[in-house]
Amino acid sequence: MVVTRFAPSPTGYLHIGGLRTALFSYLWARKNGGKFLLRIEDTDKARNSQEAAEAIVKAFHWLGLEHDGEIVYQSQRDDIYAVYIKRLLDEGKAYKCYMSKEELDALREEQIANKERAKYDGRYRDFSGTPPEGVEPVIRIKAPLSGEIVVRDGVKGDVVFRAEDILDDFVIARSDGSPTYNFVVAIDDHLMGVTEVIRGDDHLSNTPKQIVVYESLGFTVPKFYHVPMIHNSEGKKLSKRDGATDVMAYKEMGYTPQALLNFLVRLGWSHGDQEIFSMDEMRELFNPKNINRSASIYNTEKLDWLNSHYIKNISNSTLAEMLEPYGLLLTSHDKKEILLDALKERAKTLKEMASLVNEIIIAPVSYDEKAVEKAFKGDTADILNNFKEKVAACGELHLPSDYHHLMQNTVDEMGIGFGKIGQPLRVALLGKMSGPGLDSVMAIIGKDETILRIENILKKHHA
Ligand code: GLU
Repeated sequence: MVVTRFAPSPTGYLHIGGLRTALFSYLWARKNGGKFLLRIEDTDKARNSQEAAEAIVKAFHWLGLEHDGEIVYQSQRDDIYAVYIKRLLDEGKAYKCYMSKEELDALREEQIANKERAKYDGRYRDFSGTPPEGVEPVIRIKAPLSGEIVVRDGVKGDVVFRAEDILDDFVIARSDGSPTYNFVVAIDDHLMGVTEVIRGDDHLSNTPKQIVVYESLGFTVPKFYHVPMIHNSEGKKLSKRDGATDVMAYKEMGYTPQALLNFLVRLGWSHGDQEIFSMDEMRELFNPKNINRSASIYNTEKLDWLNSHYIKNISNSTLAEMLEPYGLLLTSHDKKEILLDALKERAKTLKEMASLVNEIIIAPVSYDEKAVEKAFKGDTADILNNFKEKVAACGELHLPSDYHHLMQNTVDEMGIGFGKIGQPLRVALLGKMSGPGLDSVMAIIGKDETILRIENILKKHHA
């Protein structure tokens, strides 16, 4: 069975880069009918892991991703790690090192002065004497001193590390007994049954150390996929300014979960030249083997394009529900269909859509002066009054086409062009020159409100 995991450190929120590897891991597990697990890497106890876990679960919930099983917290597993530390000590695969900080610093300085790589020199590796007094030892693992460690990476191919270039007998438990990062990651991935690790390639340099832990304990090494970073348009690492921010901020900005996930799946993965992927298609088609070898570029226009695509294609009833967090209660609005149809093509985000809706529903409190100047000529009041009377004289008006018809009648009757009614009517209804089709606007606000808005502007500008 394929078991993947997402293993964030508790920074308090889920960011774009993390979400992308989470999505890849999720999709691969789902495609294979496997499991997608969540582990909070909270060995740094100063941070609040509960809050971090909640933030992640909340973001997952918004996006429709779900993890399997209980969340694993590293901070609660010291007893488990202690068992494996003891096992390595008992088997002579790890040892106590009594070197003091001063000694380590002196060694490092000497090595740097000799232009050597700074590393622990193994002086307690085979120590059998009497340990110095008053020093609480750290535990170091016996790492291979020579030879190669090969990371068989599904994205990068075989990555070969020379043991003497990168390894030393690294610490697996500090002098207070607390285990170190690379040690617990390997233990947990094994105990959680993780078969494939998909993570950012900023972790590639940790992998040889984790492989040393796996091999020392006789564990099977999982498959690795190290995913290249996301860069901004200048080719630099993504910063907060260009999107490396809390995923929930994308919700606030009005992005739909579908657009964000579709955007992320394409950041570093492709399937031919297909751009639009439904969740089902992603689950069907995703394969970490097709992850690109080079960094991907974060492109806001692409995200906006995807978001408008999804907004245009969501059913009106779903869209109405999705607009609720933006303060729009449209689910039982009788003109919901006309309203959403009129705006779907115009909005890049749900937030923008919500403000466009409000621009229609809420009568203008003031008018754009320039628009008034441009639209209002000597005969404007007569034209608007003519139209208003036609509206008032009609019994029922429902559809945009009903209003269009009345506008047509007015221009025909008065022998004028459409612009002569369109422009002032637009200012009367919306307060400005831009906005969606007027016939839709009137159908949405209804007959009485249409009359009222015409009367209001005439009171102000043609009393
Ligand atoms: N905790 C690490 C991070 O948040 C991930 C480690 C891993 O995936 O192995 O970057």
